[in-house]
Order: sequence, then structure tokens, then C-alpha cells
Amino acid sequence: MEKEKNAAELLMDKLAFKKEHFSVAMSEEEILKADEFCEGYKHFLQESKTERECVEFVIAEAQKKGFTEFDKAKTYKAGDKVYVNNRNKAVILAVMGKKGAKEGVKIVASHIDSPRLDLKPTPLYEDSELAYFKTHYYGGIKKYQWVAIPLSLHGVMIKADGETVKISIGEKEGEPKFVVTDLLPHLGKEQSKRTLSDGIRGEELNILIGSRPFKSDSGSELVKLNILNILNEKYGVTEKDFISAELELVPSFPVSDIGFDKSMIGAYGHDDRVCAYPAMVAAFNCEAPERTIVTVLADKEEVGSDGNTGLNSAYLRYFIHDLADMDGVKGRDVLSRSECLSADVNAGFDPNFPSVHDKYNCCTLNHGAVITKYTGARGKSGTSDASAEFMGKIRRILDSAKVSWQIGELGKVDEGGGGTVAMYVANLGVDVVDLGVPVLSMHAPFEVVSKFDVYSTYRACYEFYCAE
Ligand code: MN
Ligand code: MN
Repeated sequence: MEKEKNAAELLMDKLAFKKEHFSVAMSEEEILKADEFCEGYKHFLQESKTERECVEFVIAEAQKKGFTEFDKAKTYKAGDKVYVNNRNKAVILAVMGKKGAKEGVKIVASHIDSPRLDLKPTPLYEDSELAYFKTHYYGGIKKYQWVAIPLSLHGVMIKADGETVKISIGEKEGEPKFVVTDLLPHLGKEQSKRTLSDGIRGEELNILIGSRPFKSDSGSELVKLNILNILNEKYGVTEKDFISAELELVPSFPVSDIGFDKSMIGAYGHDDRVCAYPAMVAAFNCEAPERTIVTVLADKEEVGSDGNTGLNSAYLRYFIHDLADMDGVKGRDVLSRSECLSADVNAGFDPNFPSVHDKYNCCTLNHGAVITKYTGARGKSGTSDASAEFMGKIRRILDSAKVSWQIGELGKVDEGGGGTVAMYVANLGVDVVDLGVPVLSMHAPFEVVSKFDVYSTYRACYEFYCAE
């Protein structure tokens, strides 16, 4: 029998805010649901290694659910579902609400680009009878993590005649992979004197892609020629076609459960597909929202959200203006009445590196979706700091639906910091707060999340959409 609580314990229960592991409140059934939800997520991750592949996946799923391409000349009624494909690299899903757009829309915004190695415009060269690709890394990476791991190549090339060639090589059984080689420790004496951030340099991230020469009695650069010949036979491309291409090297590790208890998922690209997927499923499952719901899966967040597929551009604003026009209201009025969850990850507490976190304000694996009031760095610069009122509203929505959530700050005050799309949406006049999944090894080639937190993030998005 449970011991009766004393006065201090009772008062503590009443007044104090306790961090709670999910298993305290969750039923076995709920945990099963989380695991099941994550099987769908794992499939999505395996199929969607780049922003383009994410867009393809999301639109295909959306079409199965009855979404059609948005046409601003059409009229829509409550429950109608539309999508906008922004240049195959970003996508908006929307379900028209019973109240339309008049009272503002509900937005969940996350990003589908992840750190990686991009090919340079003329990437191919031969050195010492080996063929290589030159790369320029994309987003914030620790460069030393990207050597000596298997990589796959994804993207598109546009040929001279305008034809698009899609490329994905290194994921399927039997396909070759690629690699950046590292120095052996036996000869690494000088290299090991470099600082960690300088251990591997940007211009050393060259991808090994071949070693056999084209068979010929004479000629130079025959290994490079052999690669060009293989590419021409397989894809019909020439060296000049690399100039009109977007080719990305990403880790080719398969998505895996982590731990004896299979409670976590290890994969490339959790940041931020681990929020994009829950946002997408929430949009699919919220079939009759009060207010129109808008799911934005953006590109370019990892490089600062600039560019016409990033959220610092106008496409979200234009879409909401189109919705406003349909309802005969002003776009700016819809925006200033709108609310947004910026669904992005936060750094989960890592006991291996406790010193970078404020233990009273960091997020922890298995404590549910993390609400991040502000990100930024050095005195809250470069962020949107959510208002007390909006925090209060989100808290009420999540608590009344019994969604597991926690509060998180991105590291200690002067430790570093980071950004999300929150401020770009907030700058449109929308109420915004960050909410997402705690991640271990964020931005590494293989990141780790807890299944329960992924599911909690889905529930948070869903309840946010369905609330008044
Ligand atoms: Mn992110
Ligand atoms: Mn990131």
C-alpha cells in the first residue's frame, strides 16, 4: 500500500513544477502507439534523404489523402485539402477550416533540409590516379565526423537540352557508396595537433569516386575519363551538366532502432524531418479544423532560411494572402491573427557533455515534446521570444489533451545557441513558439531521438491544429 504523503509532499505536488519522465503517466497502450507511429517515421526517413525527396514523398502521401494542387482561382470549402509545391524543395499543405482564414490560420512550420556535403559546380577531378568530387559543405557540420563513413549521392542534373536526370545512388543493396578518406593514426602526428574544428578542413572533404582508368594506349586523366564514361552510359550526362545540378552527399547508414530496449532511433537527418513528419501526419489526421491549418515544410533552414525556398522568402506570406483574398479579407489581418508552432529540434541533455547545458532549463530524452520559448545566442539575439500569453495558450492546449511536453533552452546562456524558422514567421506578425524533439548528436551524420518524444511532437501538432 502507498504511504500517505506528509504536508510538505502534498504542498510540493500542488506548487512545484516537476520534470517528469513519460513512463510516469503513460499507459502501455500509449507507448505501443508511439512505437507504431515511429515505424511510419522510419520509413519516411529512409525514403527521404534530401529536401527534394521529402517533397516527393509528402506530395505523394498527400495526394493519397485527397490533397490537390492549390489553385488560387478556385473556391474552396471547409475540409478541402490543398498543397503547394515550391520548386520541388519546399511544400505547403493546407486543410480549409470551418471559419476559413478570417480569424487567422494555424501554422506548423518545420524544415526538410539537413546538413550534408554538396558538390561544387565543377566537382570532378583526378589526382594520383584516383578520381574525386570536390564538395562545399551545407549547414553547420563538425567536418571530422564526415570522413571514413559511407555516403550516398542524391539530387538532380539538368542536361543541355533541359531534361532533368534524377540521381540516387548508394542506398539500395548492391549499389556503390562513396567516402572521404582520413589519415591513418600512424601518420597523423601533425594532423592530431590541429584543433578539433580544424581536424578536417573544408577543402579536404573530397569524395573518392573511382580508381580504374579508361582502357587506352595513351592519354591523361584516364580514371576521370572512365568515370565520365560510366556517368554518360548510366545517365546520359557530360561533365558540363554538373554546372546545372544539385547533388548532395549524405550518410548512407540505414535508419535503425537504438538500444536493447529499441526506445530510440538512430538516423541521418532527424533535424528536422523528425518534426516535419509529425507535422505532416497531424495535417492528414485533422480533417475538420475550425481554422484553416497550414503545414509548411521549408528548405534552407540550415543555411539561414534565405533563398526562394527558405522561410525568409515570401512564399508562405503569398499563400496566406491568397487564402485571405478568397475570404475577402486582408492578408495582413489574417497573418496578425495567426498562430504558429515552429516545429524544430532542440539539443537533448547529453550526460557525456553536461557542462554545456543549464540543467534547470534543458530538455531531456523521453520527457516529451520540447517547447523552446526562444533560441538565439548572446543575449537572445537572432530569435523570436514567444510571449507569455502565447506560451500560456499552448500550455493549456497541451495540458488539456494530456500531451507530454517539457521546456528547453538551447544550451547555457553564453555557450553558443542557434536559430530556427520561428523568427521569420514571427516577423510576419504571427504568434510563434518553437516545439519539437530533443536530439542527441544533432547535425552529426547519425543523430539519435527517442520514439516517445517523436510521438509526443505529433500529438502536440495535432492538438494545436484541432484546438479552437
Ligand atoms: Mn532544425
Ligand atoms: Mn539544424
